[in-house]
Amino acid sequence: MEELKVVADILKALHFSATKHRDQRRKDVEASPYINHPIEVAELLARVGDIRDLITLQGAVLHDTMEDTETTPEELEALFGVDVRRVVEEVTDDKRLPKAERKRLQIEHAPHLSACAKHIKLADKVSNVRSVTQTPPADWPLTRRLEYLNWTEQVVAGLQGCSPSLERLYHQLLKEGRQALDSERA
Ligand code: ZN
Repeated sequence: MEELKVVADILKALHFSATKHRDQRRKDVEASPYINHPIEVAELLARVGDIRDLITLQGAVLHDTMEDTETTPEELEALFGVDVRRVVEEVTDDKRLPKAERKRLQIEHAPHLSACAKHIKLADKVSNVRSVTQTPPADWPLTRRLEYLNWTEQVVAGLQGCSPSLERLYHQLLKEGRQALDSERA
């Protein structure tokens, strides 16, 4: 019974997130539905990271709702509780800042995040490295893709120790990504 409650709570977050992201697409050539990304992040946490914590899994499904949709912190708190609201806030960039500053702050803030937020941030970077390598934004030249990989490495350096299995996967994908981009250049 308890397990079904957890499944229902995760599905509630998934339904909410899918509704919020319904008009968004990823930037790859196929313009995949945006929701594929938060689903992948939550799935990586559950399968690779062996995470069973409900707040972390709901937070993963919801992690881009505040940054990329009209979702408010109050809405998240009313539906999912204060802990989920806090973890989503922790992984949300301040969109009032210029992009370069937001990227710098991600590197600076990473070591100070809560354990839940570190897990989500790490799985997010695993998903993004995979996308930038295999299904990159259509208009990104190689140099931009390489710079992106380098930047994620700096963020992930601040997340060390939170999940050895996810870190291993991240470093493997980073290495494969660099090799793939190198051979695309050749
Ligand atoms: Zn994300």
